[in-house]
Amino acid sequence: MPARLIDGRAHARAIREELKLAVERHPGQRSPGITVIQVGDDLASTTYVRGKHKAAEEVGFKSAIAHLHDITQADLNRRIRALADDPGIDGILVQMPLPDDLDPDEALEQIPPHKDVDGLHPYNAGRLAQGNPTFIPATPLGVLELLRREHIDPTGQRAVVVGRSRLVGRPLALLLLQNHATVTIAHSHTVDLPSITRTADILVAATGKRGLITGEHVKPGAIVIDVGITRDPETGKLTGDIDRASVEPVAQAVTPVPGGGGPMTVAMLLVNTYRAYRQHLGQA
Ligand code: NDP
Repeated sequence: MPARLIDGRAHARAIREELKLAVERHPGQRSPGITVIQVGDDLASTTYVRGKHKAAEEVGFKSAIAHLHDITQADLNRRIRALADDPGIDGILVQMPLPDDLDPDEALEQIPPHKDVDGLHPYNAGRLAQGNPTFIPATPLGVLELLRREHIDPTGQRAVVVGRSRLVGRPLALLLLQNHATVTIAHSHTVDLPSITRTADILVAATGKRGLITGEHVKPGAIVIDVGITRDPETGKLTGDIDRASVEPVAQAVTPVPGGGGPMTVAMLLVNTYRAYRQHLGQA
């Protein structure tokens, strides 16, 4: 039987609807506030930033985009600190990548951890590594939420995460560990990748290498989550790390690209911002 498709779009829509209702339950109080900072004109970043802004407005948040050009590190740091001091802002997000002349670490460290809804500040990353997370990056959090909503419990499962970036692979591996999976991380230096990935009950691909994961990488009956997003140079369509034609006959369930992890990332960013808002109101 071909694999079941996990509908990330539907789950993300349900989360956004839950959030909208939750925001409406705060009558008379200010709305949750989020500002996304984008520096430069990277096309993919512009698309992602607009998507986040639109989704935030739709659930009733006060959302703003600070689109900056030709800015020095000192000025960027100042802009971030001004948002940090603004009591109407609950979440600050610096869209990556930054232009080469700006230091992403320095920028991220200007965000106070309680407004770091992307979970990338060393404090939040460290809390996750210690097994006591606060804000968790939205993409890994989205993968876990997708599993939860699909009634897939990672406890005792063998999970393999392909990719070890600090944005996706590394925090996701920690989060799966936190949820009692037995976790292996693979990366570009891994020898004999198929022999590793075939041990996985839950296989997550987060490499950005189109079609890297084929049927020979997948254990029969595995859950396969595709985080990768790349554009097919021939068709211009978005595709993932998974070669669905060969994986679907083997796996139990797979996420499509588009419509899997992407919408969940945006939804979980909103969840993190709502959490920060409640904390700032003294309600959580
Ligand atoms: P990075 O480029 O930072 O990391 C890619 C990772 O994949 C690295 O750890 C790299 O290993 C590993 N890798 C590369 N080639 C191979 C290979 N042949 N075999 C095994 N591992 C390999 O990317 P990100 O983590 O930021 O993003 C990964 C993908 O997820 C991208 O396609 C990105 O667009 C997408 N993405 C999707 C999001 C969503 O909302 N769904 C959000 C964020 C990202 P090494 O460390 O050794 O170099």
